[in-house]
Amino acid sequence: MKKVPLFINGEFVQSKSDRWIDVTNPATQEVIAQVPCATQDEMDAAVASAKKAFLTWKEVPVSERARVMMRYQALLKEHHDEIAEILASETGKTFDDAKGDVWRGIEVVEHAANIPSLLMGETVENVARGIDSYSYTQPLGVCAGITPFNFPAMIPLWMFPLAIACGNTFILKPSEQDPLTPTRLVELFEQAGAPKGVLQVLHGGKDQVDFILDEPAIRAISFVGSVAVGQYIYRRGTENMKRVQAFAGAKNHCVIMPDANKSQVISNIVGASVGAAGQRCMAISVAVFVGAAKEWIPEIAVELAKVKPGGWNDKDAAYGPLISPQAKQRVENFITQGQNEGAELLVDGRNCQVEGFPNGNWVGPTMFSKVTTDMEIYKNEIFGPVLCATEVDTLDDALKLVNANPYGNGTSIFTASGAAARKYQHEVEVGQVGINIPIPVPLPFFSFTGWKGSFFGDLHAYGKQAVRFYSETKTITARWFESDIADANGPNMTIHLK
Ligand code: NAD
Repeated sequence: MKKVPLFINGEFVQSKSDRWIDVTNPATQEVIAQVPCATQDEMDAAVASAKKAFLTWKEVPVSERARVMMRYQALLKEHHDEIAEILASETGKTFDDAKGDVWRGIEVVEHAANIPSLLMGETVENVARGIDSYSYTQPLGVCAGITPFNFPAMIPLWMFPLAIACGNTFILKPSEQDPLTPTRLVELFEQAGAPKGVLQVLHGGKDQVDFILDEPAIRAISFVGSVAVGQYIYRRGTENMKRVQAFAGAKNHCVIMPDANKSQVISNIVGASVGAAGQRCMAISVAVFVGAAKEWIPEIAVELAKVKPGGWNDKDAAYGPLISPQAKQRVENFITQGQNEGAELLVDGRNCQVEGFPNGNWVGPTMFSKVTTDMEIYKNEIFGPVLCATEVDTLDDALKLVNANPYGNGTSIFTASGAAARKYQHEVEVGQVGINIPIPVPLPFFSFTGWKGSFFGDLHAYGKQAVRFYSETKTITARWFESDIADANGPNMTIHLK
């Protein structure tokens, strides 16, 4: 059985833990590896190594730190397919989807390679007579990241490349459900020439996360995962005086105006709601039909029902299995609950079978109409291939509905009217808005800006905000006295004139 190693002080080490968690292939239930829950000694060793490495890494010139990222980007591209295959084996994602997961991470590494310009401070001459002020961006120290199962390449790559490019050292605690992808990412990072101790990987679950939350040497924590865990991490981390950013769950609405391009609406809604088995924090889970747009609901249901899940290398498969039998059961329970609550089940994805994979965690595409905001299927993040359709009379009603929802990760509007789009983008209380684009994930030179119950913290992931999150600003106010300038006979001037 493959045992997933820890990565401490530049070495892959076998954990001495007596607690190991099975990593399974969600399409087959085959146990493909075991991941350890790191011991106290191992966690202490990772922190000691990160603290020591920080003392030298922060002094490495910024252009050299950028070059590590350039080499890393090239290695990730070279091994893109191979990483995607590992990713598919432990998540069940289709090969194309797995490649997309890796690619979105590569883009963040490209952004991290721009670190010299991202770190530039500000200057003002003559803030008072003969006095100048200027600022530098300096690293914080040891930072840490705790990541979810659904993007095992992209989300670790949201975190450690930028933190390390800023001059910090980093401890990564990946999801215990798919640790093989992050392990491969770390092997390649080492090959890119990152010095020993700059990056550490600790595996495990709650106990290892609690260690990170309480360890005084760790200055900043980036978390991505569910709402309940995000709230816990934000509270405990900030109580321990750490800087914390916690990206959490979502319920993303797509508003469909009657003047929208119908064929675009249908194909985009289908892909954005059930793609990746709905296991995306930016998936569209609620479609809000305004006025006559509701007439398209039956056609969308027909198209959605045609979507087929399947194995990672099945070219006809639109998406893979859910991550675990528990996740599948949870989604199926929600479908049953939706029926009991009175929503109309137009497409039922329960009891889904995929030929050749009798044990996979399959849930077929599912669609409800007549969903109301008091229903549990509306209130909860289902995190499965389930689309809830609801109907309103006007754009104002749609805005009221979306803004009353506690989450604020992503939303989109489909319309041919610039005025409707402008009103929606301006008035909606959601951090990432798509106009005729269903999943508006910003590229890494912007930041990933979830709002409300989808994000706890101040500074967001990647873009310029992440650089601020992983650094301190030092502002210098300087005065030099003209009376101290040596004249032609003075010692300083003499040296310069030689
Ligand atoms: P999760 O919260 O179960 O796990 C995330 C991490 O927290 C893992 O590393 C896990 O080991 C750890 N963890 C789990 N339970 C813990 C506990 N009780 N105490 C301390 N640590 C704990 O999330 P998941 O199921 O892996 O991921 C799916 C969730 O992530 C969804 O809610 C999704 O919306 C969210 N997500 C959000 C974003 C975003 O940017 N907002 C992006 C991706 C995923």
